[in-house]
Amino acid sequence: MAADLVNTLPGTVFEGVDQLVAHEDMAAFLAQHPYSGAILHDDAELAGVRGIRGRLRTLWDLDRDAAVPVVNEMLADGHALPQLVRHDPYDWHVHATDDDAPLATRMLVEAAMAVVDVIRSDEYSRMRVCEADDCDAVYVDYSRNRSKRYCDTGNCGNRMNVNAYRRRKAEESA
Ligand SMILES: [Zn+2]
Ligand SMILES: [Zn+2]
Repeated sequence: MAADLVNTLPGTVFEGVDQLVAHEDMAAFLAQHPYSGAILHDDAELAGVRGIRGRLRTLWDLDRDAAVPVVNEMLADGHALPQLVRHDPYDWHVHATDDDAPLATRMLVEAAMAVVDVIRSDEYSRMRVCEADDCDAVYVDYSRNRSKRYCDTGNCGNRMNVNAYRRRKAEESA
């Protein structure tokens, strides 16, 4: 969720414009990443969610140790209080914010809680920025051998392969 939210930022994805501008954009994002609790569909909520994207983006610029104070600050700002909850269709899981906390707060704390697990398990090297020349999309590398180089958002792996193929062809014919 955090990576997808960051990747709505302008300039992040290949030839990307801001993809979280209107209420329809927010509805589409929430269809992909459903949230229980209060959804207000108002301008303040949209502005709030747009506003946490830059803060989340910094997590991909930091290393494991440097991310710790940033994550702790997110948890403190969101007044995170982890509680086990159970609601359809999910069995017992953790909510760290009230259901009526602002959506941006719930998203920020949920992302911070996820990064807590990444840091505790010493897997921070999986927090990656796409290696394509023209793409700064972020992702989390879930691959078994930690070998994922490109994001999933802009077809970057295929595009870079095609570019390399064209370069080879051009060099051959030259
Ligand atoms: Zn839940
Ligand atoms: Zn990419």
